Amino acid sequence: MASTYRPPRRDIRFVLDEVVGLPQLLATERFGHVDVETVHGVLDEAGRFMADVVAPTNRDGDRIGSVWNPDFTVTTPESFKLAYKQYVRTGYGAVPFDPEFGGGGFPWVTAIAMQEMLTSANMALSLCPLLTQGAIEALSHHGSDELQHTYLPRMLTGEWSGTMNLTEPQAGSDVGAVRTRAEPAGDGSWRITGQKIFITYGEHDLADNIVHLVLARTPDSPPGTKGISMFLVPKFLVEVDGSLGERNDVTCVSIEHKLGIHGSPTCVLSFGERDGAIGWLIGGEREGMRNMFTMMNTARLSVGLQGLAVAERAYQQALAHAVERRQGRAVGTSPGEQSPIIEHPDVRRMLMTQRAWIDAMRCLLYENAAAVDRAAASTDADERQRWDEIADVYIPLSKGLCTDLGNELTSLALQVHGGMGFVEEAGAAQHYRDIRIAAIYEGTNGIQAADLVGRKLSMRAGGVIFDRLDEFGADADRLCEVTELQRFGENLQDAIGAARTATQYLVERAATDPNAVLSASTPYLRLFGTVVCAGLLARAALAVAADGDGRAGDDADEAAFRRAKLVSARFFGEQILPTAVGLLGAITAGSADLFALTPDQL
Ligand SMILES: Cc1cc2nc3c(=O)[nH]c(=O)nc-3n(C[C@H](O)[C@H](O)[C@H](O)COP(=O)(O)OP(=O)(O)OC[C@H]3O[C@@H](n4cnc5c(N)ncnc54)[C@H](O)[C@@H]3O)c2cc1C
Repeated sequence: MASTYRPPRRDIRFVLDEVVGLPQLLATERFGHVDVETVHGVLDEAGRFMADVVAPTNRDGDRIGSVWNPDFTVTTPESFKLAYKQYVRTGYGAVPFDPEFGGGGFPWVTAIAMQEMLTSANMALSLCPLLTQGAIEALSHHGSDELQHTYLPRMLTGEWSGTMNLTEPQAGSDVGAVRTRAEPAGDGSWRITGQKIFITYGEHDLADNIVHLVLARTPDSPPGTKGISMFLVPKFLVEVDGSLGERNDVTCVSIEHKLGIHGSPTCVLSFGERDGAIGWLIGGEREGMRNMFTMMNTARLSVGLQGLAVAERAYQQALAHAVERRQGRAVGTSPGEQSPIIEHPDVRRMLMTQRAWIDAMRCLLYENAAAVDRAAASTDADERQRWDEIADVYIPLSKGLCTDLGNELTSLALQVHGGMGFVEEAGAAQHYRDIRIAAIYEGTNGIQAADLVGRKLSMRAGGVIFDRLDEFGADADRLCEVTELQRFGENLQDAIGAARTATQYLVERAATDPNAVLSASTPYLRLFGTVVCAGLLARAALAVAADGDGRAGDDADEAAFRRAKLVSARFFGEQILPTAVGLLGAITAGSADLFALTPDQL
């Protein structure tokens, strides 16, 4: 039987308060209306809601899934509808958005904490609010006042959901190849025609209306990304009084049958089969790609978060299984007795690896979100630029590293179950199947790695990355001063050295040998990402070491929790971090051997 979900509220609180500095963030003018205890109160409540209301729907999503009907509608599982209705009532979807449209104005990092728990509870269902969030952001930044006032309030509550329509059969990673067309109708609106594929929640029965954001080409626009514009195309047109009017010319012609996330409908949408779907321009003509980038950072962060969230749920289940399942005799056990498998060192290694990476991912993702918040809260231009740069450079790590790890760690969680892991009834297989997509959509991880060694590495000629490494170097020195963290500190110094060498190598070849740089991209993302995770875990370990028993006081449970954080960070620093240093060879090998064989020889 699949286990239930326990929201890791204490772990989340630890990262928020002691690693990413939520209290300091809430002391800024921008977020001064929110206090730490209010945030944790909301998160406690949200955690209970996700565990009690959303988590029990996860198996329905997998077994029943969303179903396409011959009348071009899509039916989600009954339990999804009930849970989503309650989710709308809670108002959780509005927490980080502008109070002018009904939002809470909370920092993004608090929404990330909420989203982590929602995604652990049911990844397939969580995609509906995730896509809505992206559409809200694009509309908030670039939509006209009229569009904002018409659509945002009900999108913030979740009564209306959102979609992002980029992909077409010939335009996947290559978004510039989009062919969907938009013609001016002469009354300020546009008529959209074309076909989009793979559109998440493109049609469903959870929300009253669906607000599609569609990338399309206007007449005479140049080829490639420069000729793309963004349009808002609602499923139902909205009357002047805000009520829903006629059905727009958008049809869901089919949905995909997939490896995982069966509850999330992945739709083929046909726009304009009759007179053209009615749409409105968001932002300027031919500014579609630029505007899309506004919401890309947070969308990529949210997809990276899926890696953490599903790994967390799979880990909880693996741990419960390891305590219950008895096999073999652990060292020191009397003959004739069977030990719980958690007593075998190799099972311990699998569990500790999951645990340490989960702690590391949470630090990275929350730090990334907090950097977005700090940039928004900065009143000084230099400081804002510094946080913007940090947020930007962490995005490909958050998305690429965390979704790769989502795959690796759910596989380990399945392995802990032995043969039962391979049997669907146990539930471990669902997590493994569900998370597979996260490394593919929202820019494949190959595209994330290319972004890191391209756009991100070139920021101040590697300066943003070197600054990060210098900062972590100071933490490594501090680790070396604590006896039980000394080896972690030395390993961190070594790994920072390897990351510096790798960064320098890539900076030097950026202009002269682009193939060498692109060949290094994926191992470089892994090396730099692992170093950043180690640097943030160093901060966590140092916070515990410096505090002694201060925060825990007489609370033995809290003291044990804090001690476990230090051990988890040390395990990462001593047993995971050194493996990343070995990637330097692949990073500096150049491209020759990758291209030495012909396609026939491959
Ligand atoms: C379940 C699901 C939900 C989705 N939801 C949405 C959605 O809501 N909206 C939407 O618009 N799209 C959505 N997508 C589409 C998704 O974003 C694309 O599948 C993804 O961008 C990859 O495009 P592709 O499938 O055409 O693969 P391709 O672009 O053909 O890529 C194939 C392989 O080649 C690699 N590759 C391609 N180009 C390069 C390059 N320049 N450099 C290095 N490597 C490269 C890729 O990394 C990948 O490994 C969804 C897809 C799925 C499966």
